[in-house]
Amino acid sequence: FLRGKTAIVTGSTSGIGLACARALAAEGAAVVINGFGEAAAIDAEREKLAGLSGAAALYDPADMTRPEEIARLVQRAHDELGGPDIIVNNAGVQFVSQVAEFPNEKWDAILAINLSSPFHMMKAAIPFMRERKWGRIISTASAHSLVASPNKAAYVAAKHGLSGLTKTVALEVARDGITANCISPGYVWTPLVENQIPDTMKARGLTREQVMNDVLLAAQPTKEFVTPEQVAAFAVFLCREEAKAITGANLSMDGGWTAA
Ligand code: NAD
Repeated sequence: FLRGKTAIVTGSTSGIGLACARALAAEGAAVVINGFGEAAAIDAEREKLAGLSGAAALYDPADMTRPEEIARLVQRAHDELGGPDIIVNNAGVQFVSQVAEFPNEKWDAILAINLSSPFHMMKAAIPFMRERKWGRIISTASAHSLVASPNKAAYVAAKHGLSGLTKTVALEVARDGITANCISPGYVWTPLVENQIPDTMKARGLTREQVMNDVLLAAQPTKEFVTPEQVAAFAVFLCREEAKAITGANLSMDGGWTAA
């Protein structure tokens, strides 16, 4: 149902973003993937996406810490594929440390990638969406956009900010056929989660098993990780006409975490 539409998914060389790119392509969207990784693997994925959609698939290496590269990415998508009609603000990074020891450059990088890059993406994409009177802005926030955990100040601040940014934009574009929403997963089994296990082990003096069961899944009443494919299916639903009344929402998908 997305044939003729163009989707940009930031941070889509891995994890949730890659699952979103695949799910949108499977519905016929031309997709632009973005993020870091090995060139040959990225190109193989790009070809697979084009095969899935029967439309074009592009890779763009724009660094989400750089506003001018984000604007260039959106213009390139417009020039080469049309649109963009759908943006999935998904690139995100994490760093685990108490505020008293939090490195300034980590704070700046997390705010830039997790919060400012969605702002720059929206700013560049909304004029194109307004021209077509249709758009879907989907941002991967987190349960940490609603509640906090110790040692994640920059991430929690950025994700709370992303929820506020999304609500504001939803109000601004409400009459333009454009919706803006956050999907807020709990713990999803991706490299981002796997990679923070060693730092959490160090920060809290725990074993790998203790971090998995007592820290990560401690907050998730279902005791199951969310899957990238579940998040992607939700993003696809938000692109449907049936979802056009859903806007300005921060939609939890967290195995009950924020119900507690
Ligand atoms: P991941 O580490 O698997 O993927 C992150 C992606 O972002 C990769 O493609 C990476 O190359 C890209 N990226 C990182 N820095 C970038 C930059 N400067 N410019 C462009 N791309 C960059 O992570 P994931 O778990 O799939 O997370 C995706 C999103 O979901 C993030 O915003 C994350 O905060 C959010 N999230 C994840 C979880 C989880 O448990 N995994 C839970 C809630 C929210």
